[in-house]
Amino acid sequence: MTTPADIDVDVVIVGAGPTGLTAAGDLARAGRSVVVLERWPTPNPSSRAFATMARTLELLDARGLADDLLAQAHRAPGVTIFAGAQIDLTHLDSPYQFVMVTPQTNVDQALAGYAAAQGADIQRGFEVIGLQQDADDVLVIARPHGEYRQIKWRASYVIGGDGAHSAVRTLLGVDFPGRKILSSVVLADVKLAHGPDGGGLSLGSTRNEFAFLAPYDRHDPDGSWYRAMVWDRNHQVSDHAAVDRDEVAAVLTRARGTDLGLLEVGWMSRFQCEERQVAQYRHGRVFLAGDAAHVHSPMGGQGMNTGIQDAANLAWKIDAVLAGADDAALDSYHDERHPIGKRVLRQSGLMARGITLRPRFARGVRNMVVPRLLRIPRARDAIAGSFAGTTLRYAPCKGKSTLVGTRATQIPLTQGRITLLQRQTGFVFIRERGAPPVDALDLLEAERADDGPAVLVRPDGYIAWAGESADRPGWCGVLAWWTGRPARHSCAV
Ligand SMILES: Cc1cc2nc3c(=O)[nH]c(=O)nc-3n(C[C@H](O)[C@H](O)[C@H](O)COP(=O)(O)OP(=O)(O)OC[C@H]3O[C@@H](n4cnc5c(N)ncnc54)[C@H](O)[C@@H]3O)c2cc1C
Repeated sequence: MTTPADIDVDVVIVGAGPTGLTAAGDLARAGRSVVVLERWPTPNPSSRAFATMARTLELLDARGLADDLLAQAHRAPGVTIFAGAQIDLTHLDSPYQFVMVTPQTNVDQALAGYAAAQGADIQRGFEVIGLQQDADDVLVIARPHGEYRQIKWRASYVIGGDGAHSAVRTLLGVDFPGRKILSSVVLADVKLAHGPDGGGLSLGSTRNEFAFLAPYDRHDPDGSWYRAMVWDRNHQVSDHAAVDRDEVAAVLTRARGTDLGLLEVGWMSRFQCEERQVAQYRHGRVFLAGDAAHVHSPMGGQGMNTGIQDAANLAWKIDAVLAGADDAALDSYHDERHPIGKRVLRQSGLMARGITLRPRFARGVRNMVVPRLLRIPRARDAIAGSFAGTTLRYAPCKGKSTLVGTRATQIPLTQGRITLLQRQTGFVFIRERGAPPVDALDLLEAERADDGPAVLVRPDGYIAWAGESADRPGWCGVLAWWTGRPARHSCAV
């Protein structure tokens, strides 16, 4: 590259949201030099997301962050939607049979602490304004907040984790096709004298409005705090129009059919929901992740969760390719995560449309069918697992075990749990119960406590290979492909 850079690093990450910070922590943990460039000088104090799902909690546990977050969060056992129908999370195949309700600022803060502790260089107050890539590297140009001078970083790879209005996406010239689905949705923190019972997330709706409530674990002597999301079909104004307390109070009462006793409104904001996804997550040496790659309705609480999981999927692959793995490992980021993003768009869109249905007949059918469906255990578990991210899987290659692409979290071990082992970086080999250690270099090992097969687990917790540990050429070949280390090296005893 001809343009000189001020600083050389392995990876530049644009955006210090949950996506960028997860990727930064994981790459730094793997020993890579990482800089995060964030436009704003101080962390964003407003919290959009409030729901962290089970699969994300598993990933946070693999980074030592889940327990502290849970200690200050509410655990909601399910989500009540229309006509009493409930998405019941208490049967999830996960140690986390609930949704964690906590402001996104807490999750962002935990991830920022993780990234910094691993050695990522988080530079706040640097807005990325330019990007040039060639066959060998990428030049990233940023402007310090309030200044005209420019600073240039040269990196082998760049991750655009810079949100829905991504500058990286624009600089790449990439389309963000899709459309607006709801406007004038109001988000507010409210203190209620008579909040809904049950401790779960709950929705009230009529033909013209909805009010969604998520309880925080914050009780005052006279009431409890909730995150509210309210919408009124007959009050559609610009997203910049101010929200006032009376608007929130009126929609809450009408949508829920009762006066919940609004005592206080904290933070309030108005926004619109769009459904968009880029066609390609990879553009040469630049990757789009999180909201930069996909946005959708907040119904179902998927955006932050999906962004964190995009980052966990991508970071270890960048590390592997920097270590010598085949470049095709990086293509697998798009191949694995794009279909998941598409599914999230479909699922959250279906929920938004279901909630805002207007025709009486259609609402009647919905109210009859959905509660019944959610009482059938198989349907209940499939729907709950899909929202929680625990049933999501990556497609296995032809001829591979059907376990390949599923997550390994729930495999019982004779000692500890997989997410504890994953606090160190690298692949984990879980051998069959009673099998002797495989003693391969650079490979963490554990023993199953049940009768399942041996499995090789990727750094993001998904199974890369399953079979008999005696099939050394089998698992060594897969390990060698993903890590770039010749089988002879990584599998030498
Ligand atoms: C009302 C609402 C409720 C939601 N509830 C949930 C929920 O319950 N659960 C859930 O999972 N998700 C939820 N979401 C979605 C969630 O908030 C987002 O999906 C998530 O924040 C995306 O994370 P990100 O890191 O990809 O992007 P962001 O959080 O948007 O972070 C991007 C960062 O990039 C920075 N940036 C932008 N441009 C530049 C530039 N040029 N240079 C440097 N930095 C730049 C920004 O300042 C920002 O800090 C909700 C969203 C809304 C609107």
